[in-house]
Amino acid sequence: MIITIDGPAGSGKSTAARKLAATLGIAYLDTGAMYRAIALAALQQGILLKDNDSLISVAKTCDIELDCGPTHTRVTLNSADVSEAIRSMAVNQATSFVARIHEIRQILVEKQRAIGRHLDSLVSEGRDQGSVVFPDADLKFFLDAAIEKRAMRRYQELVADGEEASYELIMENLQQRDGNDQHQWAPLLEPESAIRIDTTQMTIHEVVERLLEEVRKKGLGRS
Ligand code: C5P
Repeated sequence: MIITIDGPAGSGKSTAARKLAATLGIAYLDTGAMYRAIALAALQQGILLKDNDSLISVAKTCDIELDCGPTHTRVTLNSADVSEAIRSMAVNQATSFVARIHEIRQILVEKQRAIGRHLDSLVSEGRDQGSVVFPDADLKFFLDAAIEKRAMRRYQELVADGEEASYELIMENLQQRDGNDQHQWAPLLEPESAIRIDTTQMTIHEVVERLLEEVRKKGLGRS
């Protein structure tokens, strides 16, 4: 059983995907973590982010392993655990340079499909999972929310983690990322067959319940 969840930054898709996978007792594939790991490898090797050929060569040679939960994701880069390191601000910014390169996307799409074949049952989360990576998925969701709400969620997450955060800067970053989505170099594609859920007025608990309702309707999963 393959369930895909796509959506813009801050739509709540990561938390929802993780919780859905945990409830169903199946794996959770965080595809953003793979783009982030390549960006981290490039930063570690001091590669210029505009040097596409070198970025492609990093993607071809680095060894990324994902332990896909369901209740946790551990990411290993060349045998080192980088699960936390890939969440830094520097990696955030570098990832867009990686994600816009077609050859790197192809490498990761193949890797994601291989993980899908290997795991058999999973919730796969990203921006192109239902459209490009798993077009034959059993169930596809597209989560969205108003930008103000997405910015507020990110702000509250950072504050809860004890980090310094500026709502204005987060809003700016989201606007930029939404713009990138529209310009197609980090494509955010909404498959026609996806169930669209606007999470603006919903709690995470309500979102997961809504996803589970659709899973049950389809006769998938155990609960
Ligand atoms: O989901 P997350 O914020 O970790 O993703 C980091 C970045 O990786 C996204 O902003 C996007 O540029 C890229 N990405 C992508 N395709 C995916 C997952 C992530 O281009 N399937």
